[in-house]
Amino acid sequence: MTPVYLIASSDECPAYASVLVDCPGVSEAYTYQIPRGWRVQGGDVVEVPFGAQVVRGIVLEVLTTLPPAVDSQRVKALLAIVDQRLFPKDYWAVLEQIAQYYCTPLIQVVRTALPPGVLGRSQRRVRLRPQQGIPPLSEQGQHLLRFLQSKSGGDYSVRYLQQQFSKVQRPLSELERLGLVETYLAAPSTQQPKRQQVVVLLRGKAGEELTQRQRRILHYLQQQGRDCPLQEVLKAMGTTPATLRRLADKGYIAIVEQQCCRLEQGVAVAPDAPKVLTPAQATALEQILQHLEDGKTFLLHGVTGSGKTEVYLQAIAACLQRGKTALLLVPEIGLTPQLTDRVRARFGQRLLVYHSGLSEGERYDTWRLTLLQEPRVVIGTRSAVLLPLVGLGLIILDEEHDGSYKQDHPQPCYHARTVAEWRSRQQSIPLILGTATPALSTWQAAQLGQIHYLSLPERIHSRSLPPITVVDMRQELFRKNYSMLSLLLQEALDRLNGQQAILFVPRRGYSTFVSCRSCGTALYCPHCSVSLTAHLFGDNITVLRCHYCGYQQAFPQRCPNCDSPYLKPFGGGTQRVVTELNQRFPQLRVLRFDSDTTQRQGSHRQLLSRFAAGEADVMVGTQMLTKGIDLPQVALVGILAADSLLHLPDYQAGERAFQVLTQVAGRSGRGSSPGRVILQTYVPEHRVIQAVKEYDWKTFATQELSDRQPLGYPPHAQLILLRLNSPDPEQVSTTALAIAQQLQTLPPIAEGTWEVLGPAPAAIAKIADRYRWQILLKGSPKNFYQLSKALCDLKDQCPRSTRLSIDVDPLNFL
Ligand code: ADP
Ligand code: ZN
Ligand code: ZN
Repeated sequence: MTPVYLIASSDECPAYASVLVDCPGVSEAYTYQIPRGWRVQGGDVVEVPFGAQVVRGIVLEVLTTLPPAVDSQRVKALLAIVDQRLFPKDYWAVLEQIAQYYCTPLIQVVRTALPPGVLGRSQRRVRLRPQQGIPPLSEQGQHLLRFLQSKSGGDYSVRYLQQQFSKVQRPLSELERLGLVETYLAAPSTQQPKRQQVVVLLRGKAGEELTQRQRRILHYLQQQGRDCPLQEVLKAMGTTPATLRRLADKGYIAIVEQQCCRLEQGVAVAPDAPKVLTPAQATALEQILQHLEDGKTFLLHGVTGSGKTEVYLQAIAACLQRGKTALLLVPEIGLTPQLTDRVRARFGQRLLVYHSGLSEGERYDTWRLTLLQEPRVVIGTRSAVLLPLVGLGLIILDEEHDGSYKQDHPQPCYHARTVAEWRSRQQSIPLILGTATPALSTWQAAQLGQIHYLSLPERIHSRSLPPITVVDMRQELFRKNYSMLSLLLQEALDRLNGQQAILFVPRRGYSTFVSCRSCGTALYCPHCSVSLTAHLFGDNITVLRCHYCGYQQAFPQRCPNCDSPYLKPFGGGTQRVVTELNQRFPQLRVLRFDSDTTQRQGSHRQLLSRFAAGEADVMVGTQMLTKGIDLPQVALVGILAADSLLHLPDYQAGERAFQVLTQVAGRSGRGSSPGRVILQTYVPEHRVIQAVKEYDWKTFATQELSDRQPLGYPPHAQLILLRLNSPDPEQVSTTALAIAQQLQTLPPIAEGTWEVLGPAPAAIAKIADRYRWQILLKGSPKNFYQLSKALCDLKDQCPRSTRLSIDVDPLNFL
């Protein structure tokens, strides 16, 4: 189904387009006639009639004859060309591979990849017609009419009306028949390149008389040395459009319309020059540069602060020099303003930023820019791996172990690392996976020699990693210290002496959950099987909130089970730590860094710069603190509740805990003074804690890999997770059972190279009033495609209210 890049100009003979339409449940292509004189090619976005709707779709192929199965009398014509040349030639193969591997219809992959607003469906809408007098109407008809009249113009989508009224079709037909209303199709909104007026400086005719003001304008334009947006000139010169028009009439300037780009601008940063590499950095870079044309993957393994970013920057520079574009993927852009600033300082205007937080216009324009043969540095999150990226020369994944590279919902549940590997091989360009704590699968691939291993074993300037002291919290209880801060940590905070500290709490909110001290009842969300979290507003008004569905309720006065008044928050969240710090250490200024305090755009950056500027002594935060923060004044890191990371119902809990704890520890001692880390836990003997303490990745990884072997967990085997949910608990379990049974008949399962685990209720058995079940498939990657093909058809067997989603290589099992 790859689009054929043949331009059909149907002046001479009739031509047809095979179109992949954007309509739920439709996966095969439909044939349309290309109107005379239109130039259409594979990859164009077009508008077509589809049933009673107008939908958008992608032209897969231009045909000169009608396929025999299509009736020439019934073939409809294309309605419009919406957008052209949105995909480079070899890009389509990437989308097809994603569709195939992740068991997702191609159009759904296209929808995920494209910037919003390019595809879309028309809407059938209803509006009132001008009328004199109202004929007799049925009761329902009157009711609907009154509803429509209550809004001026009375213009609604049919869909909305269907949601408001149980039966709308009959009264609607009645009103339409009597000429009181009309229905019409509203076209999908269109994303277009933005145009703006710019002022172009021309050579004026000699001898023209110019006023003082006109001369100043010309002088300004000369100084700018570029075409300036009209609005900018008006503002800078405090002048009027009429003045500019007079200058244009005299032939000194021209005012023309030009396409302009909506791009994220970022803050201004001082330019920066490449550093002289350390021997380890130089060796790593050299190896990468030796393989610029053969699609190799590199693991760049270096402790925090070992200079990985400097290696990226110099590899990118080499890529740009060859006239190619580099893609730098980061887990979450908001959390890494420092990295973005460093790239901008080095490459300035050549930087493009792409993530889902951009406006639709910005995403569209960035997409278009990456279609041009112009060397750029694109920095972005997971979805940036789906950009067209013409002339791509290098891909880098920073913090490659990070779980946010995987999409768990909706399909395609792609992993940016996997897609990056495909693109690297397709284009024969290097892929660099950088991290201090590799994913176990990446580590194993490096051990087996499937990917190239590069190591930066030391911190820059031979700074040592901060020593980690493990505190046994059981002993604290024994010593009657009921604080969340161990005595050792309290002492360290007391002696900060002007240096800064980070306290890491792996949860947000005031506490983890609320329970009754009399009967032990914990408060749960009525819609999801997860506990509610207490949030403090102001001093004491407390709200309970569900982190999955957003349900909220006031903090009850008494236990709903036994009416006891001793209902109390349990465990420590960031907010409680801040409260305790304020009480114990009134002299310390404290900042909180978590998803509650960083909701506004740019607030990450703001909080970080306030901390960097020394406006606070202590920063208390969640997982967000683990990423990309490089602050030289941080001398102390406290980890308050390591245990909640160790005890998750997930086979990867150990691996994740090691990664998070090591990353947090690495925030300390990045300046000239040696740092220190205090790690509090109730299980100091746990092997993850022991390995973190010694920074001993190798021993930990070897042990973890051998533990997973007998269980057949990845990377020793492959997993596919089928998730089912429905508002009806009976239906979802019955469907899950039926599917599991049917899976048994598929060849790889019947032959025993794959096995079915479950079905079982999900660990979180209900979210937003939908009951959740899972089926886990485990087996050999060799027979994967045999199985995945069959899985795509399972959806048709689910009852309408039961949703099935397929997650290949799942990371999230909750
Ligand atoms: P990582 O990405 O591994 O955490 P960075 O590249 O951020 O490490 O380097 C840590 C610090 O050392 C940064 O402040 C960086 O500017 C500095 N640095 C990196 N490479 C060099 C070098 N070759 N010479 C001097 N300073 C360096
Ligand atoms: Zn109770
Ligand atoms: Zn909920």
